[in-house]
Amino acid sequence: MTDNATCNCCGTTFDQLFSEEGRKSSQAFGCACEVTEDRVVGHFGSVHDMTVFAFITAPLPEGHLICDTCMVGLIEAGHIRECGTQDGG
Ligand SMILES: [Zn+2]
Repeated sequence: MTDNATCNCCGTTFDQLFSEEGRKSSQAFGCACEVTEDRVVGHFGSVHDMTVFAFITAPLPEGHLICDTCMVGLIEAGHIRECGTQDGG
């Protein structure tokens, strides 16, 4: 078993921050944005921590993990846009 988080966009692997049993995806420094329903939510480890993005184009599959590099690409390509922050509730 390797404790890595893998970006589902570019396939790059990152060292995982936490081992969370039962979680299908992981958080790592530089790779912690996850598709949740029709949003992309930045989690701890990402420069986009607590930031919520909305899809402008067709959403990626739920649970998709996206690294910060791919997030920049998605934003610049107009696929997603920042729509607010998570209030932690
Ligand atoms: Zn990536």
